Amino acid sequence: MAEVSKIWRIIDLLKITEGLLKEKGISSPRLNAELLLSDTLNTNRMDLYLNFEKPLQESELTEFRGKIKRRLSREPLQYVTGKCGFYGMEFKVGPSVLIPRPETETLIDVSLENIRARELDNPKILEIGTGSGCISIAIAGKINCRIDSIDTSNDALKIAEENSGTNNTSSKINFQLKDIFRDVMDFSGYDIVISNPPYIAFNELETLEPEVRDFEPLAALTDNEDGLKFYRRIFELATKTDGKTSVLLEIGDGKRANVENLAINMGITNYCFYKDLLNIDRVIYAEIW
Ligand code: GLN
Repeated sequence: MAEVSKIWRIIDLLKITEGLLKEKGISSPRLNAELLLSDTLNTNRMDLYLNFEKPLQESELTEFRGKIKRRLSREPLQYVTGKCGFYGMEFKVGPSVLIPRPETETLIDVSLENIRARELDNPKILEIGTGSGCISIAIAGKINCRIDSIDTSNDALKIAEENSGTNNTSSKINFQLKDIFRDVMDFSGYDIVISNPPYIAFNELETLEPEVRDFEPLAALTDNEDGLKFYRRIFELATKTDGKTSVLLEIGDGKRANVENLAINMGITNYCFYKDLLNIDRVIYAEIW
């Protein structure tokens, strides 16, 4: 007699997956289960509950099992699903790019506000370390501008270009393989320089969640030094630039004092900090001339 395979309904799978993820210490286990299942079924979370008695087909089950297995190994949810929402847009992500973070949306808000307040028309922007391209693409999605977005990873630039295409910003952004420590000598020609640089100090890496430490690109997370290497170089390039430059940089939680001391030591006096939605100092804006 042929073996009767067990019928797995959406509701059963959500329950069992939530339990497995919880057991592994993964936070928001229910949400993770819902997102993995809706990704497998090409639907949204709401539809899961509208069809909660629906049984999965064998091929869907196999795909879902594969995704759970990856998530149980602590691979970030966004790498498993291959996508991430940011600033109301969708971005393709994979292990060669940092997953866009909600706090980075503060950098976008502050940048747009700054461009508006300074009445910059069609500003020329440089983004350092574009990764998935999320910062440049979010800005280009809102205003007229020309952006040079640089990164040292060819694989990241490929993803960024693809994201720029799907979000209809390709005509405004020029992606380039460049290293600010080797290929950039000053910031002439740019109205604003923007970056969310790798700001985790080498000795802080061990404090990160496994999802971050073991899966996200190290070069996007840490400078392998004190977490200030990029700020030092960016301030140095800004002070070397003839005329006026302004920089807008994301900073890590609790890093305000370090970045502020660095700025003061480098003779930068015209700066301010902006907080994110959790009231954490998140962005430094400095005008340098
Ligand atoms: N610009 C990208 C982001 O903010 C990547 C930043 C990085 O890799 N440090 O998500």
